[in-house]
Amino acid sequence: MAQIDDLPPLRDVIAAHDLNAKKSLGQNFLLDLNLTSRIARSAGDITDVTVLEIGPGPGGLTRALLAAGAGKVVAIEKDTRCLPALADIAQRYPGRLEVIEGDALELDPVSLTGGGPVRIVANLPYNVGTQLLLNWITTPHWPPFWSSLTLMFQKEVAERITAEPASKAYGRLGVLTGWRCHSGILFDISPKAFTPPPKVTSAVVHLTPRADPLPCDLKSLERITAAAFGQRRKMLRASLKPLSREAENLIESAGIKPTARAEEIDIEGFVRLANVFPPPATD
Ligand code: SAM
Repeated sequence: MAQIDDLPPLRDVIAAHDLNAKKSLGQNFLLDLNLTSRIARSAGDITDVTVLEIGPGPGGLTRALLAAGAGKVVAIEKDTRCLPALADIAQRYPGRLEVIEGDALELDPVSLTGGGPVRIVANLPYNVGTQLLLNWITTPHWPPFWSSLTLMFQKEVAERITAEPASKAYGRLGVLTGWRCHSGILFDISPKAFTPPPKVTSAVVHLTPRADPLPCDLKSLERITAAAFGQRRKMLRASLKPLSREAENLIESAGIKPTARAEEIDIEGFVRLANVFPPPATD
């Protein structure tokens, strides 16, 4: 692909700022402009939208988002070494890039993005990616502050997020995601596209919030899925027994066979189970 902007090539940026990748920060940089532009396009129409990017690093995806017309990019980066490179991008796109130094797990995305429509787009650091996704999909207010998530994960994690019942990858993450979101894997990315290359293939996942998730208390659903998939080979009457002495009757009253196993239960079934078991004790 031809240049998308008049900033220096990413390899030069990395060399100039001595950004040798740190494993502890999950740093695998994406330098291929075709791919960063493809991810930016996958987020849909981002003009007049605030895009929240986690972990811009040297700014490859950030530049693609801005070149694709993002109204504003708010980017949270933990590694202070990346800030000068990001400041150069902010200067190239006046008023459109706000870089926030910090840990995305500790910052409040709602106050940082100011309440308008937000699309979250990120090549997530593998060590905190799942937790960030869980934070976004288990936010107490629904519909959430974001209108879409376009996120890169290790492929195995992407498969768990989008898994269907009865598949090997189906588990707690798939139930919580499927309860509140529509999701799908858009495309895979080979390790060769990254610097340094990770050990495994990555995949880009796109998620949008369901307008009307089935009514269910989040904490109850989290507890049921944790218990059921914590012992996924056991029948539900055994894996859910720690939650109630009446487990077997409660499972039956939800219209589910007590001899079924977690992976056989679809999202609707888990919602019914969460609604018949007594709610978790509050602190
Ligand atoms: N967006 C860049 C790209 O696509 O080439 C870099 C992606 S790299 C996989 C992950 C980035 O997240 C790194 O820049 C890393 O420093 C940053 N990071 C790691 N943990 C973070 C955290 N807790 N909060 C914010 N950024 C973090």
